[in-house]
Amino acid sequence: MLSEFDLIKRYFAQHSCTDPRIALGIGDDCALLNPSPGMQLAVSTDMLVSGRHFFADADPYLLGHKCLAVNLSDLAAMGASPLAFTLALSLPEANPLWLEKFSQGLLVLADTHRCSLIGGDTTKGPLNICITVFGELPPGSALRRDAAQLGDDIWISGTLGDARLALASYRKELSLAPLEHQLAATRMHQPSPRIALGTALRGVAHAALDISDGLIGDLGHILQRSGLGASLHIDSLPAGPVLARQPLALQRAFTLAGGDDYELCFTAPVAQRAAVLAAGVSSATTVTRVGSIEAAPGLRLLDDFGQPVTLQLTSFDHFSSP
Ligand code: ADP
Ligand code: MG
Repeated sequence: MLSEFDLIKRYFAQHSCTDPRIALGIGDDCALLNPSPGMQLAVSTDMLVSGRHFFADADPYLLGHKCLAVNLSDLAAMGASPLAFTLALSLPEANPLWLEKFSQGLLVLADTHRCSLIGGDTTKGPLNICITVFGELPPGSALRRDAAQLGDDIWISGTLGDARLALASYRKELSLAPLEHQLAATRMHQPSPRIALGTALRGVAHAALDISDGLIGDLGHILQRSGLGASLHIDSLPAGPVLARQPLALQRAFTLAGGDDYELCFTAPVAQRAAVLAAGVSSATTVTRVGSIEAAPGLRLLDDFGQPVTLQLTSFDHFSSP
């Protein structure tokens, strides 16, 4: 049986940290960070609980990827660049095969985004993974939820709904061809945090967030915090490639209310349309204009002809859903 110390050393501390912003990494009572001069720290925590956020038998490599990806996605949504993260891990047992794959999935993504693992805590208990991520950005440049302005365009990165479609397929609510299921499942298990787009939108976009629980609910947070309303052109919403082959009603439901896509929803002034498109090109991320911010409170859904559409949809809420 591995001791806690051996486990940390073998699976999490093997990366020699060469980032000059990390003055001291794993091994002492605290890590020490030197953020780049003049930068503000952005801090976010996400906890993933077995049976709630992932299946108990989930592939450990993919799980490692996803745990860090959802945290990096919060940095992206703020326009912050990754700096470092901590990992608090509660494990039922020290299974070497599981730990090997989990740490690989986690650390490969960490290296990709130059985000060092600088510490954490390890304890025995039900499987529970909590990451705190640190990022940096110039003061005043954060893409805050309360910063939408009247007349702003609403934009979405990438595509929506394939992650929700994979969930429906796992739950046998519908049936997909094997290849389609695999494509959609990749969207569900391996979200790509939109870091490059988020940082390219500094000084261009006003408000932003990442879509984890479904567009309607998440955009609702921007509207509420900014004290404004919006219209969405629901047939302009970019459906994922697999979802795009499904009936229109399902496309509407899953682009509007499907969770787990980790795309960015952001608002930007009409005068910045060309700059938003340029940010999409420079970050190799598609961006689609899907609506506008209005004074009247609430969210109005419009079809291609500008006619109001009424749909019974709610986004995922951990405390109201079974
Ligand atoms: P403490 O007694 O201060 O809680 P620990 O013995 O728990 O310290 O941890 C020793 C070192 O290993 C610390 O630097 C801590 O940040 C790091 N650490 C513990 N668990 C993890 C983990 N899961 N991933 C990365 N670092 C960890
Ligand atoms: Mg400890």
